[in-house]
Amino acid sequence: MKSFEKETARRIQGALKTAATTKIIEIGLGAIQKTARVFRECFDDASAIIIADVNTYSAAGRQVEEILKTDGIHMEHPFVFSDPNLYAEMKYVDQLVDVLSSSQAIAIAVGSGTINDLTKLASYRCSHQYMSITTAGSVDGYTAFGASITEKSFKQTFYSPAPMAAIADLDVIADAPLEMNAWGYADLMAKIPAGADWIIADALGVEPINPTSWGLVQNPLRKLISNPSGVKHRDYQALCFLLEGLIMSGLAMQQAQSSRPASGAEHQFSHLWDNQHHKHNGKTPSHGFKVAVGSLASLALYEALFDLWDNSMDKIKIGKHSYWKGFSEIEKEIKNTFSNPVEAAQVIEQSRQKYIDFTDLEKRLNRVVEIWPELSRNLQRQLMGFSEFKAMLQQVDAPIAPMDIGIELNRLKKSYGLAQLIRKRYTILDFTKELGVFETCVNSIFISGKYWEKQYNTLTDNRYE
Ligand SMILES: [Zn+2]
Repeated sequence: MKSFEKETARRIQGALKTAATTKIIEIGLGAIQKTARVFRECFDDASAIIIADVNTYSAAGRQVEEILKTDGIHMEHPFVFSDPNLYAEMKYVDQLVDVLSSSQAIAIAVGSGTINDLTKLASYRCSHQYMSITTAGSVDGYTAFGASITEKSFKQTFYSPAPMAAIADLDVIADAPLEMNAWGYADLMAKIPAGADWIIADALGVEPINPTSWGLVQNPLRKLISNPSGVKHRDYQALCFLLEGLIMSGLAMQQAQSSRPASGAEHQFSHLWDNQHHKHNGKTPSHGFKVAVGSLASLALYEALFDLWDNSMDKIKIGKHSYWKGFSEIEKEIKNTFSNPVEAAQVIEQSRQKYIDFTDLEKRLNRVVEIWPELSRNLQRQLMGFSEFKAMLQQVDAPIAPMDIGIELNRLKKSYGLAQLIRKRYTILDFTKELGVFETCVNSIFISGKYWEKQYNTLTDNRYE
């Protein structure tokens, strides 16, 4: 065992004590060889069925099958999705439910986020447990509670327990398409702005920080994201730390029974573009890459707020909050903006849950003035500069500008307002709104030339001029 594997194993063992469902996690070189032992420890002499797609079956599924067979574990015929357009959609869950309900075999999901989420929900619907063998460091949902599945063209999180065990073999991860590990790296980087959002929500008493799940994600985070170029060059230590971070984030969500430890405003941008069925060059950009752009958008807003506060405190009109709208007005705006009535109703409900009236706003603003020196220090400690963050994404070939995923600047600008509405989660988007500086800050991001504007002024098609 290499020293970085030992280091990861030590932190993971500590984290497992907090997990409601997951009992065993193995991350390391050759970890796949432990599958039979892990399976028996979790499921005794149950039979097993491999769930994979064509690519993940050849990447690891066949090997897992042989390892288990050799060990004498009874194997059902593997279920291999052949649809090249497979994604986390309910019709595939239904297909899997048909397969899994015909026996008591335990599903072993061999694949990345999609296969894992499909298997997680289908297993739960058959009242079975399952285990996960990760083939790419592409998302943080492997060990999370809940499956993210699209139903009736809306992505939703469905109740479903985490896997009993998760295995990530670094040789398999190193062989994954480079881009997939970059998706996961971006999803892990997102925990920086997500953590800052939680700090604000905690400071205002909106949603207290849960120290256990906070610690799982945030304590090792800086170390785990420190080598983006290693991720790109398939360095084993960098991949080990990437998988550790993603699996830790999943365990944190499992512990908190909420995605709060791993997701803030940056994820709301991504969810918004999911709901808008955004495509770039005919394809849906990955979750991680949408979150990369969302993270940059969030960091730019944090910087704009700090600039405003430092340089023109008088523009933050604490106490002069004529900007604050009644909820009926917000409701009207939502109905005008979201043309689908089902979606509009959902958005209204989410927004209502975090709306405060004028009296509470006044109290909250007074509190902000009181706590700002400490809050801003805590935020600065948590956050990373936009440029530094962007440089890290760049090293792993993740997007560094909205157009990299086909989001034009004027659309990104609009997305700030929409992303605030669609989830009840309290983030920097809500904080700047309540302070009455949301528009000033967002406008400053787009006129300053500090972030993306200059880059696009050089485009030959003059699209942004
Ligand atoms: Zn994510």
